Amino acid sequence: MNNHSGNNFSELFLKQQKNQYIIGNTTYKERLKKLNALQDAIANKYRTQIQEALQKDLGKPVVETELTEIYAIIGDIKYAKKHLRQWMKKQRVDTPLSMLGSSSYIIYEPKGVCLIMSPWNFPFNLTFSPLVSAIAAGNTAIIKPSDMTPNSSALMAKIVSDLFGAEEVALVQGEVEVSTELLKLPFNHIFFTGSPQVGKIIMEAASKHLASVTLELGGKSPTLIDKTANIDKAAKKIMWARFLNCGQVCVAPDYVLIDENIKPQFIALCKKWLKVFFTDNPKASDSFGRIVSDKHFDRLSGYLENAKALNATFEVGGETERTSKYIEPTLISDLKLESELLEEEIFGPILPIITYEHLDEAIAFVNSKPRPLALYVYSKNKVNTNKIINNTRAGGTCINNCIIHYANHNLPFGGVNNSGIGKSHGFYGFKAFSNARAVLKQHTFGVTGLLLPPYSGFKETLARLTVKWF
Ligand code: NAD
Repeated sequence: MNNHSGNNFSELFLKQQKNQYIIGNTTYKERLKKLNALQDAIANKYRTQIQEALQKDLGKPVVETELTEIYAIIGDIKYAKKHLRQWMKKQRVDTPLSMLGSSSYIIYEPKGVCLIMSPWNFPFNLTFSPLVSAIAAGNTAIIKPSDMTPNSSALMAKIVSDLFGAEEVALVQGEVEVSTELLKLPFNHIFFTGSPQVGKIIMEAASKHLASVTLELGGKSPTLIDKTANIDKAAKKIMWARFLNCGQVCVAPDYVLIDENIKPQFIALCKKWLKVFFTDNPKASDSFGRIVSDKHFDRLSGYLENAKALNATFEVGGETERTSKYIEPTLISDLKLESELLEEEIFGPILPIITYEHLDEAIAFVNSKPRPLALYVYSKNKVNTNKIINNTRAGGTCINNCIIHYANHNLPFGGVNNSGIGKSHGFYGFKAFSNARAVLKQHTFGVTGLLLPPYSGFKETLARLTVKWF
């Protein structure tokens, strides 16, 4: 149920706009109180309901909900609480000699009224984590979650209205028309998580009001394995990372580029780990989820059909069942370059494996695609690792692991170009929702005062000396 119906959100927006300075002037203690209330709601009051909603929407196993939704949000809140006092302080900066007599500092002031739009794959995490940053930075927010996970969205609406007045935080439900209406409003900041395609629509809408944006997008994250890698560990981590949440993870390894000499061994070890994780019958496994919707099931089945038609080799899996939206964990090799699996972000439980003879070929392949959200390297060789990192660009990288850079709040999280604009998490999230306001205070007579008109020969000399010496 949408509490803010009628598809006319101007009234709600105006309410928040009027209230923004009250929220913006809240103290550290007041913001802490809000973060504590959100923490309590997620960790205690609504925890079981969150697990149930995700089970209904995505068949998400409870352990995955605990780790990738509950723990992720609580981790964000705890980190923000620990550092907020420091973040809210004036940040003093140095004064150049030419500006003697003044002092300067930065205030991280709230942006104002923010729009948070989230996707369906980790609905709670990707809605509440940006909200944590928005609250910490002293903003008001209107939230629009995905309509693909209705049970989660309905529960989030309940949590938000339980904790906040609509003049501070409000959650609006609905389909694309709702997003379109919201995007007409002159938000001060839009924080969007979703696909690059919709990201472009968001940026265009934001340009009408010159709203700042954080775009947390997706794309194809490559995983490079060289012949020095520990292949067993690589297989174990990649099988976990690719099939977590049924492959519907923005930072999942999208395809593997592997030295051709070690491919057979890698595939054998992947088979071993898939059996350990999901048994011989993943369909019956409680540890393996389902595809979110018929639309996405059909999209992924289409990729498999396309690969079959182009005579690719199905190393593992390939089974699908539309009624339960089940797609078996699938590994495919010998793909033609024009295969859909190598063109589109997969966002499902399918992993293409591509071989290379020389590392340079792998690097060239990565660089032939738009810049990814994550790039993973499995290698024990420092020269190879550095070569890959120095000759590619990506939002983030793990060496000898996948995904978990997301969980270190000291690191910025986000993409580059096609995979995103701006960063989130920890201080970077706080910064995304803040305007770094530059303040200079003049205390005594400043040297610049000597250079005011009317310009004389003396001032010309002084200007020349300033350019030369300061
Ligand atoms: P999506 O872009 O389809 O939808 C995201 C949000 O935009 C939803 O709230 C949706 O209702 C809204 N939306 C959809 N179409 C719209 C339109 N035409 N106009 C305005 N709003 C619209 O993405 P999704 O399918 O929900 O999520 C999958 C994508 O998100 C993948 O590309 C994935 O990689 C990416 N993703 C990125 C991150 C990250 O942190 N970088 C995290 C999760 C998912």
